[in-house]
Amino acid sequence: MVVSEINLSKLTTLDVLKDLVAFRSLTPDDAGSLDYIARIVSWLGGSSIRTDRNETTNLIATIGTGEKIFAFAGHVDVVPTGECSLWQSDDPFELYQDGDKLIGRGVADMKGGIAAFLVAMIRYVSNHDMSKYKIMLVITSDEEGSAIDGTCVMVDYFKNNNIMLDYCLVGEPSCTNFLGDTIKVGRRGSLTGNLIVNGKQGHIAYPHLCQNPIHDFAPALAELSSKIWDNGNQYFPATSLQFANINSGLGVTNVIPGSLMANFNFRYNTEHTAEYLQNEVIKILDFHQLNYNITWNHSAKPFMTNAGDFMQIAESAIKHVTGLTVAKKTDGGTSDGRFLIDISRQIMELGLLNGTIHQINEFTTISDINNLTEVYFSILNEVFN
Ligand SMILES: [Zn+2]
Repeated sequence: MVVSEINLSKLTTLDVLKDLVAFRSLTPDDAGSLDYIARIVSWLGGSSIRTDRNETTNLIATIGTGEKIFAFAGHVDVVPTGECSLWQSDDPFELYQDGDKLIGRGVADMKGGIAAFLVAMIRYVSNHDMSKYKIMLVITSDEEGSAIDGTCVMVDYFKNNNIMLDYCLVGEPSCTNFLGDTIKVGRRGSLTGNLIVNGKQGHIAYPHLCQNPIHDFAPALAELSSKIWDNGNQYFPATSLQFANINSGLGVTNVIPGSLMANFNFRYNTEHTAEYLQNEVIKILDFHQLNYNITWNHSAKPFMTNAGDFMQIAESAIKHVTGLTVAKKTDGGTSDGRFLIDISRQIMELGLLNGTIHQINEFTTISDINNLTEVYFSILNEVFN
């Protein structure tokens, strides 16, 4: 388990992945894996601090004293294994090798990405004068869980200390069929509205004595659900509003209900802010003269890596190592990129294949983790060139 200092330069990505998988880091327990990473950092002459909160552990590590900062962000926590007997191996926390295939919980999401970056970093740091460069690690144990005490706590640390990352690479599994086929250059935002339309309950035969919230809401619903918010842009699909729940009525046929509850979610692109969308919704509700209360939950801002050289650096590193032309996408759910964007000049997600993540027999391959190591190494070389 404990790699010796002497062997550091001989460490392969497979060695590190084997070690990382063995930590039973069910979210939000890092199970010692952050100490393991901190040890590698200290052997390379770097330092680490922890911003743990509640059950969550967070590691911020720094190697080098240069101006320009390249950061690798990710998480060591994993989701539960599910029924162990269904796994090809006896223990999903013991890396199981079947030819080129590597099976184990977290190998793709995202211990394989961390192992690849650590080895790329060891190689880079061993051969460069780190007074000119700065590499940072931003690793949490709470990405798969509530994500309340994880990356956002580290982001606060960066904000409080006025540290801005020039390049932030999130090692989440971004690829679909082949290593290097996809990078995520942004993500959509997520905004949920919880609406209550107030009416007046009464006998259905005496509607003039009641106020029917279903009837009141119907034209607003039609307008909200058919409105075109935008047409998307080069990287993002159009903003979408979807209703998730509408409830009203007492379950009987002779009562006009007193209220209606509805909630809806926006997945929105960089054409808008959450404030803009909230105002547009309120305008429509007011136009239809509804008596309502609304609360909002804004769980993610959209982000897009800003104009700069990062996208192109990643593109050419991938081309160089795999021969593939990478697709730049913004689809999928939210990620910790939503927090990191606040402290990053340029941000991108690039990691292994995501086809088996969270599944029984989650796997990656030796060739993929080695190629990813090469891609990360080549990105480091270009960024600090
Ligand atoms: Zn993940």
